[in-house]
Amino acid sequence: MLKCRDIVNTADQLLDGDMDRRQLLATKMHLLLCRHCRRYVRQLRALLCAIPFMHKKASDTEVSKVMEHIHSHRGNHP
Ligand SMILES: [Zn+2]
Repeated sequence: MLKCRDIVNTADQLLDGDMDRRQLLATKMHLLLCRHCRRYVRQLRALLCAIPFMHKKASDTEVSKVMEHIHSHRGNHP
């Protein structure tokens, strides 16, 4: 069984579709059981979707604010 830390560490691979089937299945299984990780993956996905549009508009301050948010979330994760 994967741990929450494993999900956090591989979440970007998951969103990139860069995972083999076994890993994907284990991740999905964990997400079914763990609402913390579900929320984390959802937030990360929303963020990744937003970034391409932000590139032209976002200031450095806005970007670092977002990064801070991610890091603080990672820090709080069990
Ligand atoms: Zn979890």
